[in-house]
Amino acid sequence: MEKITSGQRLRTCRACGKKFEYPVKGSTATRHHCENCVAVPAEPRKTMERLNTRVTQLENQIRCLQGKSTAPN
Ligand SMILES: [Zn+2]
Repeated sequence: MEKITSGQRLRTCRACGKKFEYPVKGSTATRHHCENCVAVPAEPRKTMERLNTRVTQLENQIRCLQGKSTAPN
C-alpha cells in the first residue's frame, strides 16, 4: 500500500480514471479531477467522463462474465 499522509485521500479522476492524492499542496487537482484533466476545458472533459464511465461499466461486465465462465454452475 502507498503511504498517504494525514488529510490526504486517494481519489479516482472522473475523466481519466487515474488514482491521485488529494489535496496535495501546490497541485491544481480538484476533488474529482487529476492535475492533467483539470486543465481540460469543461466540454471535452464531459465527453471524457462519459467515456470513462462507459469503460468502467464495460470492465465490470467483463469481470462479471469472466466470473460466470470460470465458476461452476
Ligand atoms: Zn484525470
